[in-house]
Amino acid sequence: MDPLVRASVHMQRLLGQFGGLLLAALSAFLFVYAHRGEGRIAFEMLGAAGLIASAVSALVAHLKRRNVALVSGSEVTLFTSLLGLTYLGLVYLPLELRATVHPVVLLVTMIGAAHTKRRGTLILLAFAAGFELGLGAELGAAPGIGSLAVRVTLLSIFAALSGLIYDRELTRITRVAQKQVQDELDKLKEDARAYRLLGGAESEERAAETGALEVARSIDYALYVLRSALRLKSAAFYSESSRGKLALRGASSRTELQGQIASDTGIVGVSIDRREVLALVGARRTAHTPVYPRQELVGSLCIVPVMGAESLLGVLYVDREEETEFDVADRALLEKTAEFVKMATENERVFGRLERQTREQTKLYRAAEALSAAQSEVQVIEAGVESARTIAAFDFAAVTLFHRKTGLHEICAVSGDEGEHLVGQKFRQNAGLVSMVVANRQALPYRGDYDAERQILFSRGQEVRGMPSLLVLPLMLHDRVLGTLVLGSRKAGVFRDSVRPTLEILARHMAVSLSNARMVRRLEEQATTDGLTGLLNKRALIAAAERRIKMATRFQRPLSVLVTDIDFFKKVNDTYGHDVGDVVIKGLGDVLRGMQRDTDAIGRFGGEEFVVVCEQTDEKGAQNLAERIRKELEATTFQTELGPLKVTCSIGVATFPAAGRDWETLFKATDEALYVSKRSGRNRVTVWKPRLKGTSAA
Ligand code: GH3
Ligand code: MG
Ligand code: MG
Repeated sequence: MDPLVRASVHMQRLLGQFGGLLLAALSAFLFVYAHRGEGRIAFEMLGAAGLIASAVSALVAHLKRRNVALVSGSEVTLFTSLLGLTYLGLVYLPLELRATVHPVVLLVTMIGAAHTKRRGTLILLAFAAGFELGLGAELGAAPGIGSLAVRVTLLSIFAALSGLIYDRELTRITRVAQKQVQDELDKLKEDARAYRLLGGAESEERAAETGALEVARSIDYALYVLRSALRLKSAAFYSESSRGKLALRGASSRTELQGQIASDTGIVGVSIDRREVLALVGARRTAHTPVYPRQELVGSLCIVPVMGAESLLGVLYVDREEETEFDVADRALLEKTAEFVKMATENERVFGRLERQTREQTKLYRAAEALSAAQSEVQVIEAGVESARTIAAFDFAAVTLFHRKTGLHEICAVSGDEGEHLVGQKFRQNAGLVSMVVANRQALPYRGDYDAERQILFSRGQEVRGMPSLLVLPLMLHDRVLGTLVLGSRKAGVFRDSVRPTLEILARHMAVSLSNARMVRRLEEQATTDGLTGLLNKRALIAAAERRIKMATRFQRPLSVLVTDIDFFKKVNDTYGHDVGDVVIKGLGDVLRGMQRDTDAIGRFGGEEFVVVCEQTDEKGAQNLAERIRKELEATTFQTELGPLKVTCSIGVATFPAAGRDWETLFKATDEALYVSKRSGRNRVTVWKPRLKGTSAA
């Protein structure tokens, strides 16, 4: 800055601050000088007018408070002018009244001392001394230095006492305010403890909500207390919201404040950068105060950065219209409030987290309930996809299962308009997302963003388009991946960090339920199936036969039972070995399965013996079927190491109700018929006749 400009600015400032005082002093001097006889009455009147003018202008400035710079100076000016006017009054009073009115001088000095800083009080006392000296005899006291000294000392003592009392009162008010803040702090701690002790998902959720509200309110209250205690224009707390921005979280102010301010520029930026308290006095205009949308009068301000455990939480901003510094007591209260705000903010974050967790846990709990109620794999997939819908909004969902034996992925289910045609399609392990998730057991893509042009989901030719958001979650059971849950959304940025952990847990639940459903299915199958042929086992076949006999009885419909037994099977085993024997048994099983109608029940009864139960089949039909079976087996050639092998079988047939009305009787009849086939040369079919009753192999 140009030295001349700087000097002029300095001068302007000094004049602004002490102009009034200068006027008062000059007027007082003029008055005393003229009054003592050295001047004329006109100058005396001019001096008196000057004193009145300075008093009025100081009063007006004080009331209007338009110019901050004048405010602190104006208080001194006001009291010196008033003192001057009091002396003027004393001069014009009749002599006998002066002594009684003189205490008014004391009173004005005392009030002035209480309202001005030390420097102001000294000016006031000097002013009084000047008057006492100039008007000594006029004031009715004995002239002389001794008398003057006594009077000035008396004035000084009163001024000092008054200032002292005022200071002590200020300290007391500050202490009371500090205690209020401390009490609030304690109450908040107590509240936080009480909230954590509350039980039950719902009440916890409510507690978290009201907790956040309470915190917001208590910050406002703390700022209100601070503002009253330090006589502030505004007290505000701005917290970190996004990069380079701070948002207003609580305030107590006479005027409107900005909802958002920059954290990387201006004085706020400086304070944050340095991580230290920044105090300014005599900042003239709002260039320095970013918290106001309009130009505001600010004499001094202070910015306190509020630090969390690792990072910045926000800033505490306070200011005054007066140009009064923030002294040690003020700073202590500011720091205390900053600490309170920090704790409140951290508590609020805890409440927020608690609330989110509770909500997510409730969703997962409901999902787990739905999943455990699902019995089949299809039901598990449906329940899983529906539960995922409560956690994130998606337009597309698919479940793939990985078949370890074949190394193939199968798209088992698809929900959503896109890709329904994909259900049932299979694909090999490739560089696509599903394959990678199965291989690496990690959810993909990393941030849930998907570009169908560049990324493969299932495999080439099985694209799903129009989904900028995609998430492929592994269905993990321990460290085994059963398959994947695929979610897609037409909106971008749906599967960010806030939902991923919850979805991952859901996928784990799903995998467990899926594996349980599979196990149940396998157990059921094992309990009813013959391991070698895949047909019903003896127990399951008897149950099926009994059900069918019951239906046949109720609807008076025919039903037939066939028993097949391979001829000279012991010889097959002996010659070709047991393994070839098994292949032959399986071969007959295949022949039977090839002839099976939907309503037929076929089972392996043990060894190389099979039973077929045919609904709505009479003797003739059963005989035809038996013949077809016999011929089919006869025509079959089994390839063995010892050359081709051919076998035949014998069959016994019995029909309901002629041969029997219950399972035991019917089965006994087929056995009698089979015995006849064996005895009469094998490789033939025998239909039971009443005359066969009693004939049996057993
Ligand atoms: P027949 O013509 O009178 O029926 O003579 P057979 O040799 O077939 O006599 P039978 O039906 O009584 O013999 C059944 C044989 O089947 C006895 C056993 O060694 C054999 N066998 C039973 N279960 C199995 C099996 O699971 N696998 C194999 N390979 N052989 C079995
Ligand atoms: Mg047998
Ligand atoms: Mg046999």
